[in-house]
Amino acid sequence: MNKKKAVVALGHKALGITLPEQKIAAHEAAASIADLIEDGYQLVISHSNAPQVGMIHTAMNEFAGRHPEFTAAPMSVCSAMSQGYIGYDLQNSIREELLNRGIYKTVSTVLTQVKVDPYDEAFYNPEKKVGRYMDQEEAELEEKKGNYVTEVPDKGYQRIVAAPKPRDIIEIDAIKALLDAGQVVIAAGGGGIPVLAQRHHLKGASAVIEKDAVCALTAELIDADELIILTAVEKVALNYGKENEQWLDVMTTTEARKYMEEGHFAAGSMLPKIEAAVEFVEGREGRSALITILEKAVDGLNGKTGTRIVKG
Ligand code: ADP
Ligand code: MG
Repeated sequence: MNKKKAVVALGHKALGITLPEQKIAAHEAAASIADLIEDGYQLVISHSNAPQVGMIHTAMNEFAGRHPEFTAAPMSVCSAMSQGYIGYDLQNSIREELLNRGIYKTVSTVLTQVKVDPYDEAFYNPEKKVGRYMDQEEAELEEKKGNYVTEVPDKGYQRIVAAPKPRDIIEIDAIKALLDAGQVVIAAGGGGIPVLAQRHHLKGASAVIEKDAVCALTAELIDADELIILTAVEKVALNYGKENEQWLDVMTTTEARKYMEEGHFAAGSMLPKIEAAVEFVEGREGRSALITILEKAVDGLNGKTGTRIVKG
């Protein structure tokens, strides 16, 4: 049987913030993932990493601050650490959940690097906030190191980095090989580690990639049938949070473009999901994207809930 291929994006809600929270959340996420596998899907799973990478970054910097013989870890290294930290919990939770259902499949995490363009406009205009809040003195120190910071009202200062577009996935052949072998793959966590190609050398970039964007690219490169974005809301809305809020069951790509232009989707949260869905669905005939809440993934796929994005 030719199984349907899908990329699943797990949002921040699927992972919690602290380590104990992450353990519980990963366990719950694993149940939804196992539902999809039981439903016959071949999956590549990706996930967000904002609180986790923030924690790792802070921990590494504090450590280096206290121990002058060590240096602080760059963003790219922290991002790699976060893929291991989250992937470890996710792969074990999914493995266990599958075994409990009598399914034996290897689940593994691929440390994933994502090529970005050094001339990407985003590098001239960093705007993605990362890490903990700092006071003015710390912020000035960051600027001296060549990093960008921004003032956050009532909170202090925070580092900002560029969010360039993902161009290619270095480990895509490994991801495809595992998928072709019928295994479950966790890849491109936290948007992947952004890298700049310098001949044969890959240089970690001081940036973060939007996980929804990298999920669309992964889905394109494995030629998936479905892009499943599991987030904190059950459906996408027009006039979100307003009196005339309207939840959508389905939206064509033409409608999605119009709604984007009208500003219905918040930048940095819903907008990148809609952009990812449109790009993926328009890639070829027969694809569709689903945005729904983690617990209702299978219901969403069966048309009972969620917002479906289709070509048209
Ligand atoms: P994730 O970690 O899953 O990517 P985000 O917080 O980035 O989560 O994005 C999901 C959030 O987008 C929702 O919790 C919701 O508050 C927000 N959102 C913004 N615009 C809309 C909209 N038009 N419809 C539904 N949710 C929206
Ligand atoms: Mg998000």
